[in-house]
Amino acid sequence: MPNDSAAMGITVLGSTGSIGVSTLDVVARHPERFRVVALTAHRDVEGLFRQCLQHRPDYAVMADADAAQQLRDRLRGHDSDVEVLAGMEGLVRVAGLAEVDTVMAAIVGAAGLLPSLEAARCGKRVLLANKEALVMSGALFMEQVRNCGAVLLPIDSEHNAIFQCMPGGFVSGQTARAVRRILLTASGGPFRTTPLEQLARVTPEQACAHPNWDMGRKISVDSATMMNKGLEVIEACWLFDTDASRIEVVLHPQSVIHSMVDYVDGSVLAQLGNPDMRTPIAYGLGWPERIDSGVTSLDLLAIGRLDFESPDLDRFPCLRLAYEAWEAGGTASTVLNAANEVAVQAFLEGTLPFTGIPRLIEDCLGRCVSTAATDLDGILAADATARALARERLAGTARSLAG
Ligand code: NAD
Ligand code: MG
Repeated sequence: MPNDSAAMGITVLGSTGSIGVSTLDVVARHPERFRVVALTAHRDVEGLFRQCLQHRPDYAVMADADAAQQLRDRLRGHDSDVEVLAGMEGLVRVAGLAEVDTVMAAIVGAAGLLPSLEAARCGKRVLLANKEALVMSGALFMEQVRNCGAVLLPIDSEHNAIFQCMPGGFVSGQTARAVRRILLTASGGPFRTTPLEQLARVTPEQACAHPNWDMGRKISVDSATMMNKGLEVIEACWLFDTDASRIEVVLHPQSVIHSMVDYVDGSVLAQLGNPDMRTPIAYGLGWPERIDSGVTSLDLLAIGRLDFESPDLDRFPCLRLAYEAWEAGGTASTVLNAANEVAVQAFLEGTLPFTGIPRLIEDCLGRCVSTAATDLDGILAADATARALARERLAGTARSLAG
């Protein structure tokens, strides 16, 4: 990769994940345009090792000192001068480096909050995939973006589609003029038509087998419960400065229309494409230009038809809970996100049934008092309290089942 000063320096937070790998795929198609400055992973030493050899970053970050040492040992003798850092401190550092223009925020969950905020604080171009960061800290995050001159470009396919359908010159966080509604499309996930009485017994493997998208396990479970769409409603409220009452979720099983904007004159603008995250990633990387993403053209004749339904809130209570959390305001969204992360992990580990996920979240939302969510300490405290409560309730459930 040429060390060309005209090339845009990039940090990919969460580079070994689904979004991270797709990002590096697009980046590698444009070596004259991008230079990888930093890559980060949680514990996947082998994965980050291979990416370091291929993309030659200046920095690599692992979650802890042990994993960082393993990566250093692995890189020894491979003609590599990558500086290996560890932990949150390392993540925050590579998000704010002077030589970095663009930060892809693709860590999953609350773990991505601090480095994503740092990228905003340092005025970077922030490509935001890590929706949980925005859900837990929306007011603070958007304030940081505005005050520090950051450019926030949504990577979540729906929000990227909406961004593309906004008037020319639109900036994230602005009120879009003449917009009547946002139509947020959702596939409905793998259980859209599963008989309700079978949902209590579905397995993590079934939940992670998404019909249209190939994603990490946490977001796959979120798609199956439709909490993903709930988080996306909140994400859209912050990005497009609107209220949840003006966002309508539309089930669209083919995942071809990625979302729509309904204008006051009756025009509805949509963005369509194959369900491949390289399209929104390339849009963010190239913006305001368009660059090749490797995604093939949409074949509408092969698709044949596009269907739409309204979501069933009895089947998908998580979607209702997200609207309620937004309505409650303050740290309620932080609590929603934290309880969901604990619940999804428990489901993936086999200690909570699928239908226990919304029950645990609703229980936590009912027990945590919502406060204003404008400072980082308050947000982190709300997150920690909700996690502790969710774990306590989980342990209680396990005890009562055992007893
Ligand atoms: P993933 O699980 O495939 O990858 C997550 C990445 O984050 C990995 O590199 C992992 O090593 C790293 N990571 C995980 N926990 C960490 C921790 N505690 N500390 C540091 N690093 C950690 O997830 P994904 O599917 O790529 O999703 C990433 C984010 O993008 C999520 O917020 C998700 O909601 C969002 N998103 C994903 C998709 C998709 O198609 N995969 C689409 C839209 C939005
Ligand atoms: Mg999405």
